This record gives sequence, C-alpha cells and structure tokens, in this order.
Amino acid sequence: MTTTLTPIPFVDLKLKQQAIQSQIEQAIQAVVDKGDFILGQVLGEFETAFAAASGAQYGIGVACGTDAIALGLQACGVGQGDEVILPANTFIATAIGVLHSGATPVLVDCDPQTALIDLDAAQKAITPKTKAIIPVHLYGQMVSPRALMELANTHNLVIFEDAAQAHLAQRSGYRAGSVGMAAAFSFYPSKNLGAFGDGGMVMTRSENVAQKMKSLRNYGAPKKYVHMELGTNSRLDTIQAAILNVKLPHLEDWNNDRNFAAQQYDTWLLPLREHGIIPIENQCEQGHVYHLYVLRVTEECVVDRDTLQAKLSELGVQTGIHYPIPCHLQPAYKHLGYSEGDFPMAEMLSRQILSLPMYPGLSNDQVNYVVAAIKSVLGIN
Ligand SMILES: *Cc1c(COP(=O)(O)O)cnc(C)c1O
Repeated sequence: MTTTLTPIPFVDLKLKQQAIQSQIEQAIQAVVDKGDFILGQVLGEFETAFAAASGAQYGIGVACGTDAIALGLQACGVGQGDEVILPANTFIATAIGVLHSGATPVLVDCDPQTALIDLDAAQKAITPKTKAIIPVHLYGQMVSPRALMELANTHNLVIFEDAAQAHLAQRSGYRAGSVGMAAAFSFYPSKNLGAFGDGGMVMTRSENVAQKMKSLRNYGAPKKYVHMELGTNSRLDTIQAAILNVKLPHLEDWNNDRNFAAQQYDTWLLPLREHGIIPIENQCEQGHVYHLYVLRVTEECVVDRDTLQAKLSELGVQTGIHYPIPCHLQPAYKHLGYSEGDFPMAEMLSRQILSLPMYPGLSNDQVNYVVAAIKSVLGIN
C-alpha cells in the first residue's frame, strides 16, 4: 500500500480544543483577573459539576491522579498495616498511590479478554489484613459494578476505583466514580478529560471522606477539628479547574466520538481473529469511553507485536503499548517479592498488546487507513 495519507498520530489533543479555544482563554483570564489561584471559586464549581456528572456526591480536586489514589485511600481509612488488592497490569501510578498511602499493594492477575482485574484471583488474594480493592477501569471500560460489590460486601472491603482512564464511563447503570466508597481521577493532558498540565480528583459519596480529603490536600489543616492525618500540599489549580470546566460539557460528545471510532475498528478487526489479531473485549457497549483502543497480537499472527508496531510506524501509523512491563516486574518493586510467572495473563498481555490511534475526531478514513495498514503487514487483502 502507498503512504500518501498524512501520518496518523496516536493522539491529537488540539483537534477538539480549537472550537473552544477562546472560551478557555477567557476562563483563564477570569481567574487571573480574580486572582484566586489556590482553592478558588471555579475549582468548587468544577468539583461540583464533575462529581454530579459522575453520579457521586463530592469531588475534591488534587494535584494529580497519583495523589488522588494516595490521599483518597488515606481518607477512606486505608494505611499502614492494610493490604490493598490491585491488578498487576495497571499503570504504575496505581501501585505508587497505594504505597504512598502507607498500605501494602497486593497484586493479582487479569482477565486476558478484557484486561480488567480478575475478581476470582482477587478473592483468592484476600487475607485478614485486606482492607480495600482497587478496580482499575482500564482503557475506559469499567469493572463490573455488581461483581465488585458482591465481592466487597462479602469480605467487607472498601472499593476504591481507579477511574483515571474512565471519565463518565458507564456500566450496569453506574458511572465510573460512583461504585465505590471513593474513586480517583486524573486530568493528565492526554486523558479523556485533560488539563493544561497535571491535575486529579477524588470522588466520594461519603461526607466524612470528603472532609478528610479537604484537610489532607491542604496541609492537613482542619476546618472543624484537629485531624490525626499528616496532610500535604496537593490541590487542583484554579486555572486548571477553569480549563476543565470549559471542557466538561463536551466530554460526553468526545467520549461518543471515541466509542464510534472503536466500533469502526471492531467492525474491521474482529474478523481477523483467525489471523491472530484479537481486540480487547468490550463488555459495556456504549458505556466504554475508550481512553485507549487496544488489541492483542497473539502467537497465531504471522508477525509479533513489536514487528507489527514497527511496520505500522513505517506506514505512518503511530501506536503505543499500555503497558510493556507489568507492575510486579518493574525494577523498583522487587521488594514486593514477586517474580516472573506470578501473573501469567498480565505477562502475556504485556507482550501482545498494541494501542491503536484513538482520540475524538479520529475519522472513518483514518480508521480505514489503520486497518488497511494492519492487513497489509499481515499480508491479507
Ligand atoms: C494516568 C493514570 C494514573 C495517574 O494519574 P496522574 O495524574 O498521571 O498522576 C493512575 N492510574 C491510571 C490507570 C492512569 O492511567
């Protein structure tokens, strides 16, 4: 095939921003004029709006998603001496958050079809010390709320959602952020709802957790009484909140755009199973917000994942790998005591997964081009 089409980027953050650029500039200027850069008025407005859109009672803006996990767990009463279950195939920040809360991360394997946490494996990992479970709504698809609640209720566990890739995702009538006691979001620029820098939020249904969070993010300064927690400085900047507030009303459209592009990918790629190309399964249809569109390049494929990625790059198609090394094999986490072979599904996925271009505004022609490029590498017409 020819490479006459312009290269297809992995993400294009500017595409949808152009239409709201002047609104964003006005919103930034308004904060500058007002001067309430820290814990300002628009922060409160955005916290309320995003929590409401997600079906949660309270939103507490913090500096980044990693802090949202660390502080959110602390606010839920999780810390030293507690074990927290999380999947081995998540972004490392999930594990960092647990460690920063003072708790001990306990990794478990994933379901290779969905890449989501394997709840049977989670159940087997429960000990008397297990306090919480972190379902990571990986790639924009929620872990089943019903199955999660059943497990958590049976074993008296706190559910703390890592919703950093799942803004406004839905499953079984629940929005990401409304399933557990609390949830963490990230506004890293390339997330479905991204700031012009770092940002994050803890969402919760509990007034008690919300109060603790407000203290923890603000040097542990209590509003009403003295807390025992050691606080820190981790707030979402008012300017970032103002930007996010302009973007929020568009988020559902953008997510629908992603879902539509994913359906196009599925249409053309699901029939390639016999050629060893297997898209990660979508179990929540329209509710999947496709932060990433990920497929597996299995052993049945004529090329391996790295070769496919390299050849696609030559054809102008940028791809990514999320993530190439599971948490338990990362050098910094040796002390957790895991070794190769402990989580075979997570390890297999790390060798097979490839993330295709995905962003709101990705056109049908572009999707078709990506699919044609994959087929040409595989030698299929
Ligand atoms: C992005 C991300 C985080 C961390 O968010 P930051 O804002 O980068 O700290 C945590 N968990 C998952 C699954 C993520 O994708």
